[in-house]
Amino acid sequence: MEDGEKYPEVVMPSCKTISLLKGQKALVTGANSGIGKAVAIALGQAGADVVVNYFAGDAEAEDVCSEIRQFGVKSFAYKADVSKELEVVNMFQKAISEFGTIDIMVSNAGIQRDAPLEKMTLEQWDAVIQTNLTGQFLCCREAVKEFKRRGVIKDVSCAAGKIICMSSVHQMIPWAGHVNYAASKGGIHLMMMSIAQEVASHRIRVNSIAPGAIRTHINTAAWDTDNAYQSLMKLIPYKRIGEPEDIGKCAAWLASDHADYITGATIYVDGGMTLFPGFEAGG
Ligand code: NAD
Repeated sequence: MEDGEKYPEVVMPSCKTISLLKGQKALVTGANSGIGKAVAIALGQAGADVVVNYFAGDAEAEDVCSEIRQFGVKSFAYKADVSKELEVVNMFQKAISEFGTIDIMVSNAGIQRDAPLEKMTLEQWDAVIQTNLTGQFLCCREAVKEFKRRGVIKDVSCAAGKIICMSSVHQMIPWAGHVNYAASKGGIHLMMMSIAQEVASHRIRVNSIAPGAIRTHINTAAWDTDNAYQSLMKLIPYKRIGEPEDIGKCAAWLASDHADYITGATIYVDGGMTLFPGFEAGG
């Protein structure tokens, strides 16, 4: 395709209900919008009962639960700030008392508070680290406690539990003007690998998904005008923006027994953003 020529819009194929996760119980944080919503729906479509965690937006959370229930599985919304220890502990207690246990935990909630370094306030730094990194730590800790308590139930899954941390390509690509965000995602990278190493012998799998540019609220400015979209395409060898469903499908598979030998890994779902696109034409 010639430079400047438009790439065709992609029609996302729909995920078939293949019952990859039948009988499993999942909790997804930040699941009333964007990537978290798509992940929660994909897990429900694959047969899991799903707790939809959210921070603000009761109606959106209820809508996600209704959509999930259409697959014949259970779903309820739970409001909690993932950066607050007591709220996270209470959320897991509620999930376990309603569903009996949790088999899959997707730690997805995340925010950006961008500023050049000299203008970045401690408040902006703390907000991002507390939500994106401390929030993931707290959710991983509570999930691991439950996975270890229950152990493997052969008819449900080969593993005692599956954790998916939502990271970002910015766990490896430096990002000027976003040092708090890049630091949080770099932190998730080694936190995920260290937890994976620590709990592997308990048959608990811990992995990350690192999305590239996905069409959600968090990055509207990067895709909502033609100019912004064209300049974004310079960073994406595959020449299309990612859709939340791209991440949802990956998460459903990664949480399933089809991925049973994968732990401590990051799957980049980024259309090649991490392939040094500046060298596309040979450098
Ligand atoms: P989004 O703004 O649509 O979703 C973020 C979700 O997190 C929202 O539901 C929000 O309510 C929730 N949230 C925020 N603070 C919270 C808190 N303290 N407690 C509980 N929930 C909270 O954005 P998104 O793009 O869907 O982002 C989801 C995740 O994907 C984030 O971790 C983000 O860093 C990551 N990510 C997104 C992209 C992208 O291009 N969109 C790329 C890489 C990584």
